[in-house]
Amino acid sequence: MHTVPFDTSRAVCATTDPDLWYADTPAEQQEAADICRATCPLLRACAEYALTTRQQHGVWGGMTRSDRRPARQTLAHQTSLAA
Ligand code: SF4
Repeated sequence: MHTVPFDTSRAVCATTDPDLWYADTPAEQQEAADICRATCPLLRACAEYALTTRQQHGVWGGMTRSDRRPARQTLAHQTSLAA
């Protein structure tokens, strides 16, 4: 399970194989991301945390590392529009 600054008592990754969230293969990483999206009530908070803190490893908030790069760019664009 990830260490995060919010209540993780309902984190799905805390009740399943935590290694899946740091898997090496794209298929396993996608499996973890799919589990996040389908079942975790912390999805939004986790995704926001991962993007704002630029997490480099693992699956966070339903996103693999390769998913996060474009998501960070979108977030940065939206933030600049709101400023
Ligand atoms: S969204 Fe995924 S990585 Fe984040 S707490 Fe939930 S299961 Fe874990």
